[in-house]
Amino acid sequence: GFYNPAPAAAPTDTDEAKTEAKPEDEEKAGPSAKIDNTELINSTFEVSVTLADQQADSSSPLYSVKTFEELGLHKDLLKGIYDMGFSKPSKIQERALPLLLSNPPSNMIGQSQSGTGKTAAFVLTMLSRVDFNLNKPQALCLAPSRELARQIMSVIIAMGKFTPVQTEYAIKDNLPRNATKITAQIIVGTPGTMIDLLRRKVIDTSDLRVFVLDEADNMLDQDGLGDQTIRVKNSLPKSQVQILLFSATFPDHVRAFASKFAPNANKIELQREELSVDSIRQFYMDCRNEEHKYDILVALYTLLTIGQSIIFCQHRHTADRISARMKAEGHHVASLHGAKDATERDQIIDRFREGKEKVLITTNVIARGIDILQVNMVVNYDLPLMNERSNSRADDVRPDVETYIHRIGRTGRFGRKGISVNFVHDRKTWQQMEQIEVQTGKKIMRIETNDIDVME
Ligand code: ADP
Repeated sequence: GFYNPAPAAAPTDTDEAKTEAKPEDEEKAGPSAKIDNTELINSTFEVSVTLADQQADSSSPLYSVKTFEELGLHKDLLKGIYDMGFSKPSKIQERALPLLLSNPPSNMIGQSQSGTGKTAAFVLTMLSRVDFNLNKPQALCLAPSRELARQIMSVIIAMGKFTPVQTEYAIKDNLPRNATKITAQIIVGTPGTMIDLLRRKVIDTSDLRVFVLDEADNMLDQDGLGDQTIRVKNSLPKSQVQILLFSATFPDHVRAFASKFAPNANKIELQREELSVDSIRQFYMDCRNEEHKYDILVALYTLLTIGQSIIFCQHRHTADRISARMKAEGHHVASLHGAKDATERDQIIDRFREGKEKVLITTNVIARGIDILQVNMVVNYDLPLMNERSNSRADDVRPDVETYIHRIGRTGRFGRKGISVNFVHDRKTWQQMEQIEVQTGKKIMRIETNDIDVME
């Protein structure tokens, strides 16, 4: 490989990493921070072996004592699950599904680490609750981005393959303007379009049974999509709708509101130190300045393309600028953000999903939920900050720890190995990263940039 890792991290890093690491992690967390090609290649191919091990380890979020048969699912849904290649439930699936499917229906606030099978849990609930003989909307699911809505839909279609389920999107530019009535049983979308369809009575909610918020903390947050989500809820029947909130993160300031939004909910919660999965190794690179960040990214290109990578920037124009520069220099990258039109966004994410593009340069628009198993590296070109949230103050430069957890969770899906690399380039970004370390309780290891400089 072109890239030789640092000989050793600073002594304090070594000591802390050792004392913090659990014995079985010691080899992985190791004293010297290094990314090598073997590790990246393994993260792509050696999945099934380690998955079986993890599902048998009681401390893993993928562990369960039960089988899918024991969770009370309909046989047609079991067929769908096995057809997708699942063999055993994860911890959240085992714990949540019996509660989700019991009668009378009860609300749920479910928290589990990124990539541990939450989507399957709420999709199975929607499919279980729908009366396929009734051609009216019965389940609504909201997500923060069209990319995530489309992905959830693909899970509904796959799991519902052996059922006659009918589905529809509530995302921009999908339905013809003159659409009058949706007869599909399950509707998945983003809040803006959902509100529009509800207001125009294209969606009749009189037979609604289930209302799901994926990435619920973001959907309920006043700094996120809170206002819009409340408007959707206000147009639903007041009773008999089972409300399901799922996310990997529920910061304190939305927890109380979530409990009001989903009254008397069964709760499955995580402790703060459990928030991010251990299979994602976290690194940082000390860049000299903003321009040096670009050089380092280009120098990392070979590593970025061993599997697939997502590069997160703060601004749309940064994403465009970096990708234009890299393309001009002969590198193969794509950029995706909210300013592109719907069709283009769909094409870009679909090409990335199919592996036609290996490197995706983007913004927080796909920080949450996107599940692409081949992604084994996430780069925080810019660290996520609170001032990127809507309604936030421009001078709020505290790190956005929730978004950080979601961003790095684009790798390390369902027990796979993944790597995240943070670029820091001055005192401020250094301090922001330190706060992320403190708040997540996870060490971020240094990688030297020198070896890359030598290459230039
Ligand atoms: P989350 O919603 O918690 O982020 P997902 O539901 O997207 O996680 O699941 C992450 C990945 O793991 C997906 O590719 C999904 O198909 C897969 N997966 C989910 N549950 C299982 C299971 N029980 N066995 C094997 N793979 C699973």
